[in-house]
Amino acid sequence: MNLTKPLMISMSGIRGIVGENLTPEIAVQFGKAFGTYLKNKKVVIGTDTRTSREIFENAVISGLLSVGVEVINLGICPTPTIQLMINEEKAGGGIVISASHNPSEWNGLKWYLEKNFNSQEFKKFFNIFNNKKIKYVNWKNLKPVKINQNAFKIHINKILNSVNVPLIKKKNFKVVLDSCNGAGSIITPFLLEKLGCEVIKLNCSNSGLFVRNPEPLPQNLKQLCRSVLDFNANIGFAQDPDADRLAIVSEQGIPIGEENTLALTTKYILKKRKGKIVVNLSTSRMIDDIAMKKNVIRTKIGENNVVLKMKEIGAIWGGEGNGGVIDPLIHYCRDSLIGIGIILQYLAEENKTITQLLKEIPQYYILKTKIEYPKNKIPSLISILNRKYKNEKINMLDGIKIDREKDWIHIRPSNTEPILRIIIEAKNKNETQKIYNEIKKIILS
Ligand code: MG
Repeated sequence: MNLTKPLMISMSGIRGIVGENLTPEIAVQFGKAFGTYLKNKKVVIGTDTRTSREIFENAVISGLLSVGVEVINLGICPTPTIQLMINEEKAGGGIVISASHNPSEWNGLKWYLEKNFNSQEFKKFFNIFNNKKIKYVNWKNLKPVKINQNAFKIHINKILNSVNVPLIKKKNFKVVLDSCNGAGSIITPFLLEKLGCEVIKLNCSNSGLFVRNPEPLPQNLKQLCRSVLDFNANIGFAQDPDADRLAIVSEQGIPIGEENTLALTTKYILKKRKGKIVVNLSTSRMIDDIAMKKNVIRTKIGENNVVLKMKEIGAIWGGEGNGGVIDPLIHYCRDSLIGIGIILQYLAEENKTITQLLKEIPQYYILKTKIEYPKNKIPSLISILNRKYKNEKINMLDGIKIDREKDWIHIRPSNTEPILRIIIEAKNKNETQKIYNEIKKIILS
């Protein structure tokens, strides 16, 4: 096989460009390996809406069936719904066919286990994946593909049971929803209608054609911002194509940034629950202000790391600053639909607007950027930074994080590409920019 670029492989799965480095053959191998790893337990699968989905759906199913696995196919479905159905179906694991927020030319395969992956399990799986001699079962031991059409209903009911539906209904919220024509396109309007909202749908066609950049960052939500104003709506919600991340646009048509999805929902949850919260190292300091620093546990970046820690310490809430909220009372995964339920509940209970609720949270300016950087030079850069900031509080859990009284800097190598991710948060844009210029000089020197 002549591959132009290597596949992106991480603990959470593989991702690549369709027809270049992500091929049907790889998906078949992935399915065979996952089925073998799970020792013939049931597997739930589902896809986001991108146009290459059927290639990988069929290939993954072939691989799974060939090693004797029973497949529950959910078809087009958000990542959180698929994760929820692993438990509901008492399956050994699940495969999500999605490249999350990456553009249309990408696709990927994410794996989930009933009990979450750790690095040992990841190695075990990858040894099987790399071993081309996987044992097939004979025809007598083949199992069927089953379709489960209740997944949306089950997921929506879980959320409805966690909020005060009559209270939200009474408000008759007008909501503009931008699902990016992704996996949230059908289920999310259902949820909103069940909550008595008037829903204005933007990019909710399930077509898989992404008319905006699929990452729900403020600069990609211009159409949503305009529509919130045009329709005089109470709020705008944006999802990424697999609907695990949620971004909010205020009633003033302002994209408030994904960090505030977690900040607002955390503030609401703390009114109801007491205990520890788990977020990743790059998540805004707003969470420390809201929950008090001693109650906030920080992990390496990645949903799996956050979830493992949440389970270990029995956290009451968690998430990542990219708009991913995790409610352990429903399930352990980032879920934009849970975020929507909680935000509407919060608006209804407080009888305030998003702008008013935001004013109750100390705001910072966060810069998230990346610089191309050779992997082999990273250790020496980290020691330079370590020396330079030796008098500050330093955390080396994931790259290097320099935590100061008024700001913080987090620099970490990407697991998959020769780049450094740089995240800086300070009181305002100017301060953040100043720190970035200083850091950039060190990195490029
Ligand atoms: Mg996603």
